[in-house]
Amino acid sequence: MRAALEAKRRHADVALISKVHPVRSHSVAAQGGINAPLSAGDSWESHAFDTVKGSDYLGDQDAIEFLSREAAQAVVDLENMGVAFHRGPEGKLAPRNFGGASQARTYFVGAITGHAILHVMFEQLLKAGVKIYEEWFVTHLAIEGGFAAGLVAQEMLTGKFHLIRAKAIILCTGGCGRVYEPSTNALICTGDGMSLAWRAGAPLMDMEMVQYHPTTLANNGALMTEGARGDGAQLRNALGDRFMIKYAPNKIDLASRDVVSRAAQTEIDAGRGVDDGLGGKTCVYLDCTHLDRDFILERLGEIYELALQFANVDITRQPCPVRPGMHYQMGGIKTDLDGATRIPGLYAAGECACVSVHGGNRLGANSLLDTVIFGHRAGAHAAEFARQVDFRPLSEGVVMESERRAQAVLSRPANGESIAKIRLDLGRTMHQHAGVWREVKGLQTALNTLYTLKERYQKAPVQDKGKVFNTNLVFHWELGYMLDSAETILLSAIHRTESRGAHYRTDYPERDDQRWLKHILVGYRPDGAPTIEYLPVTLTRWKPEPRVY
Ligand SMILES: Cc1cc2nc3c(=O)[nH]c(=O)nc-3n(C[C@H](O)[C@H](O)[C@H](O)COP(=O)(O)OP(=O)(O)OC[C@H]3O[C@@H](n4cnc5c(N)ncnc54)[C@H](O)[C@@H]3O)c2cc1C
Repeated sequence: MRAALEAKRRHADVALISKVHPVRSHSVAAQGGINAPLSAGDSWESHAFDTVKGSDYLGDQDAIEFLSREAAQAVVDLENMGVAFHRGPEGKLAPRNFGGASQARTYFVGAITGHAILHVMFEQLLKAGVKIYEEWFVTHLAIEGGFAAGLVAQEMLTGKFHLIRAKAIILCTGGCGRVYEPSTNALICTGDGMSLAWRAGAPLMDMEMVQYHPTTLANNGALMTEGARGDGAQLRNALGDRFMIKYAPNKIDLASRDVVSRAAQTEIDAGRGVDDGLGGKTCVYLDCTHLDRDFILERLGEIYELALQFANVDITRQPCPVRPGMHYQMGGIKTDLDGATRIPGLYAAGECACVSVHGGNRLGANSLLDTVIFGHRAGAHAAEFARQVDFRPLSEGVVMESERRAQAVLSRPANGESIAKIRLDLGRTMHQHAGVWREVKGLQTALNTLYTLKERYQKAPVQDKGKVFNTNLVFHWELGYMLDSAETILLSAIHRTESRGAHYRTDYPERDDQRWLKHILVGYRPDGAPTIEYLPVTLTRWKPEPRVY
């Protein structure tokens, strides 16, 4: 939405396509806040360094510098558009603490920051007159003569496929969280744009870097925001110990997410886990009980509700069982600072992209920031690009190709294996072998399983044969995209024989700057195994150092 708004402001003719109503995008679930070095005594350098360190030195420092320099203005812009950020007693914007940050710089609206931002953005789109095609599902990216030329989308209400010609396309299709099961991500986070771009010839970078958030609810994987620890909540093991003191003596509960997730998992594996309510000891406690009840309800109201409804825990009175769970994809479609991919006319921004500000581990509240900063930038550059080029000739044949694919799937006999079963098997396999701990045997097992899942997918039927809102068919398209994301995650994870950020290899437990201070890019080949390429990490002013919190 930020990209569309910027392109529109620069007089481009813009359409926004979304498979859900725009305010139902996963950004609506963002809880904790958005970072900016706005307060007195803070600086963009400090924010940038925290981000570089958080990334375990894999983030490109030119991109991180840009992010941090622009952050204050971006948050003020949101505020001016109407996002009612929390204010302190003197009436000034007042941030909360967050993980991996050397000072409080996370601006928030209770625990519904994403909701607040998304609704304001949507109003801005309406005001600017951006055309919106909602509940249109993109099935194909058309590339002509090496340039992005348009796309095919299925109108879900009617089942009809449409060709949309474009001089420039910006993919802002979000993450691929549901490749894992469980995940904090919405069901729609299926990596569609990553797969579309990949198959069109744009490589995916840093895909092995999958973030596990330390505090997700045991039974359904829902997120309990880091803002809780930012506001004073503590992690405890079965003995009641604040175990983080041992792992991160300075930052304790507010070390960066990869560090806290590994610590929690280590406690659980060592038998110091707490009851998950499902018969296992797979959790640790997130303890808010020492905080004032009204304070919790005002600032953390949403997670109070989540815990009550899904775990039957009143966090104002009882510690809440939580465990590390899949949360965020640091990698994505490789872009430059303008959001440009390697395909002229194709841009990407937000979680689907990898401009490389998060590296091996994203800091909490840096992702909403990434979306608005690089959304803005991609919108500006795509508008400029569109001004300079003509539409490419594109035949209706590309629509027929999507129709043919849909027809082929719909004509499979209805009695085969369900898409949902394959999806669940995929998610469980990824969680088991490519989660907090990884090693070559497990990763290879997962990759072999993935290839059998791809075969099963080729035969799986779509039960609903109708045209109107065929969500079975949408699920089918999505699973195809997910299998691509999973493949690139596993290939990159097998390749990186070191431990860095969220990628922890028990068979290679050390960070190895000599060999691995570089990005892994996976490219698609229609007939053959994916390609692997390396790119050096851009360092500006911060040399890699040991990372302690
Ligand atoms: C529970 C939760 C809490 C979070 N909290 C925070 C936080 O407090 N602070 C923070 O900085 N980050 C947070 N994050 C991360 C952050 O919210 C996301 O990374 C970010 O919002 C992603 O935004 P996006 O615009 O890239 O994608 P999304 O918001 O996921 O939007 C993707 C869009 O692409 C569309 N789309 C996708 N595929 C297709 C297709 N095939 N056809 C048509 N349209 C398609 C969708 O309809 C949607 O509109 C959180 C994430 C989660 C899951």
